[in-house]
Amino acid sequence: MSQVIVVASGKGGTGKTTVSTSLALALARKNNKVLVIDCDCGMRGADMMLGITDKLVHDMSDVISGACEVSDALYECSGVSGLYTIAAPSMAEDEVSPQLMKQFVSAHKDDYDYVIIDSPAGTGSGFEAAAIAADKALVVVNPEPTSVRGGVNIRQKLTDMGVTDQRLVINRFDMARFVSMGIYKDLDEVIDVTGIQLIALIPEDVRITALAQRGALASNWSKCAVVFDALAARLQGLNIPLVVKS
Ligand code: ADP
Ligand code: MG
Repeated sequence: MSQVIVVASGKGGTGKTTVSTSLALALARKNNKVLVIDCDCGMRGADMMLGITDKLVHDMSDVISGACEVSDALYECSGVSGLYTIAAPSMAEDEVSPQLMKQFVSAHKDDYDYVIIDSPAGTGSGFEAAAIAADKALVVVNPEPTSVRGGVNIRQKLTDMGVTDQRLVINRFDMARFVSMGIYKDLDEVIDVTGIQLIALIPEDVRITALAQRGALASNWSKCAVVFDALAARLQGLNIPLVVKS
């Protein structure tokens, strides 16, 4: 049975697209068939991180309007087999409605083991379109108060929408920085404030930015890679410990 996972955060720039694409790669490396749907209309980025921008012609709005077949907008990512993506429209006004997105995901999810939906910042209609068909949510926060507040807001919004299976991803963790900020006593306090069970702690690593911006995440060459592998395994139901790497 397929699993539909929305990656959300409330606040922009927490690493949703980095998490969506890196997780999708890790799942595909474990022989899963994976679809990444970019729901960040007007600000799409998953196509760049997955290295398919040069091939990109059609996006989700073309599929929904009937301007192209689904297969025309489905791009297979290089570097790993079984990973596909559909891009968000490049223009914000072409945003796909929550209802139409729900119909699309329901009709196609069973072709995949995992559908990962990358959401925009905020809690508006773009976020609703991303979350409406989700079985599970990954809430991405950075370990600082403004970001954690975004996580709390999105937890509530997801709960209101009935997406109650939520897990917390703390991204861009740097122990020395965390301690020197002196805002939180420890990581448990961050987890307690968000009120969501932790599933991954991803280290700060500039290499993931360099790889993502070049569409080269599939090279698996950052210290985050092992953490995304563990996250993928945990989502597959394997009882493995949290990987802490900072
Ligand atoms: P969002 O989709 O939430 O707006 P992005 O995935 O685009 O966020 O990431 C925002 C910025 O943070 C990018 O420059 C990205 O490379 C960087 N980033 C994300 N995760 C990490 C990380 N673990 N370590 C270092 N930089 C990161
Ligand atoms: Mg993004």
